[in-house]
Amino acid sequence: MKISQQRGASAFAALAALAGCVAFASGCRPEEPIAMLALQEVDVVPSAPLPVKDMVIVSDEGPFAHHRKSLPKDTSQRRLLFLNRHGGTYTPSYYNDSSQNLSTVPQQTSVIPPFQGTDDHWQAIMECVRREFERWNVQITDQDPGDAVFVEAVLGGAPGHLGLPSGVAGVSPFTCSNNGVIERAIVFTFTEATRDVPTTCLTTVHEIGHAYGLDHIFYCPDPMTYLHGCGPKTFQDRDSPCGEYSSRQCYCGGYEINSVRHLTDVLGHADHGPDTTPPTIEVLQPVGAELPGNSKARVQALVQDDREVADVILYWEEEGEITEMDCANPPSLVECVRSWTTYTWRFPVSEGERSFWIWAVDAAGNETETQPRHLVLNPNLTPEPYAVAVDIISPPHGSQVTPGEQMVFRAEVSTFGGAEVVRVRLRWSSDDNSMVFEMEPTAVDGEWQVILNLSPDAPGGERHFQVEAQDDSGGWTTSPLIPITIVG
Ligand SMILES: [Zn+2]
Repeated sequence: MKISQQRGASAFAALAALAGCVAFASGCRPEEPIAMLALQEVDVVPSAPLPVKDMVIVSDEGPFAHHRKSLPKDTSQRRLLFLNRHGGTYTPSYYNDSSQNLSTVPQQTSVIPPFQGTDDHWQAIMECVRREFERWNVQITDQDPGDAVFVEAVLGGAPGHLGLPSGVAGVSPFTCSNNGVIERAIVFTFTEATRDVPTTCLTTVHEIGHAYGLDHIFYCPDPMTYLHGCGPKTFQDRDSPCGEYSSRQCYCGGYEINSVRHLTDVLGHADHGPDTTPPTIEVLQPVGAELPGNSKARVQALVQDDREVADVILYWEEEGEITEMDCANPPSLVECVRSWTTYTWRFPVSEGERSFWIWAVDAAGNETETQPRHLVLNPNLTPEPYAVAVDIISPPHGSQVTPGEQMVFRAEVSTFGGAEVVRVRLRWSSDDNSMVFEMEPTAVDGEWQVILNLSPDAPGGERHFQVEAQDDSGGWTTSPLIPITIVG
């Protein structure tokens, strides 16, 4: 046990070194152990694309802010947010001015190269950042707004381009004045470090959050967190403790913040007017009027709303008897999975005639219902194959790795018969224990990855890994066990 704890501790040290020091104010405080329990007896730790690792540069602009005419805005004025993919030259300054490329972040004049991803990557990042901020009165553009007052997020380059240690994914100025808002802030996301679309989006949203006055939040589902492994993150309307790997006093005072309330205070609600538009429902499956009887039925619908879908219910009717299948709270034997805007129900059926319709409501109470569809459950039809396949892309079978090395685990997950993948994870095992790490989709369709660091003092010997994918029926598909040798 002693040995394993030591191993866990040094795995953490490796991570801390990789992450660089997390600086709030000028004092560089060492990170506290991340879930030490989870690290015990394992010799790998997650690295780059997963959790946010960043820095904030405290920038109390004092008189300079007003000198630059960037007087605090009120929330009736729509703020402007510029996502810059072209890089640029940034000059150190005592205040931030996104129009003049003046920043409190660099120590010397620094050149950030352009974003290296494709146009598709860029569009996906834009869409993701827009989605995160759509609740507030802020316009997001990738066209340079010139002399207007705007916050700029620069996406490109590596932390070294700003003289920051490797492992830092982003950096932002931060202040407690002006309700935390730096009106002409420039924040940076180092896309050579963040690499994939979800991580780049999360890091950018996080850095913009700092520029609008948000501290780190010790609550995993919020983008201002350092915690990882709880699915997609979005700003949470909840009083949450400040902190990185444990709670601490908030930098601007108090012990808790509510990111949604703070952003609403400083940005104001998006000015969409009253919501009178109901959700739209498109039934994707079943396609025909006949389904195999005595098997599992699968009903899938695309439900979208201009704001937020609140609830979706499938009504299934058999000889006048109606079963209500609320996706958020399905009855027993019914599975329902929501993946973004796609809702999929699976449940056992016998044979005969049925009808079904789908009802949805948005957050403002606007309802929609589809026309009833009639179906025949035919016991003579064979159910279509429904399957998921997992293929390992890297590392190859029988690879040799040395302690301290970074390993990129990548897998292709393909689906048949309309199956959908909802979760993919990596299982890493030695002879006497195993541990799972969530994998994230890359920019390549069907491809998932996680990057882990092998502890510098991992003992030599055999390890195995496999990739496990969960589909929307709840079932798991597992790749073969792939051996890896640690060369001591
Ligand atoms: Zn941060």
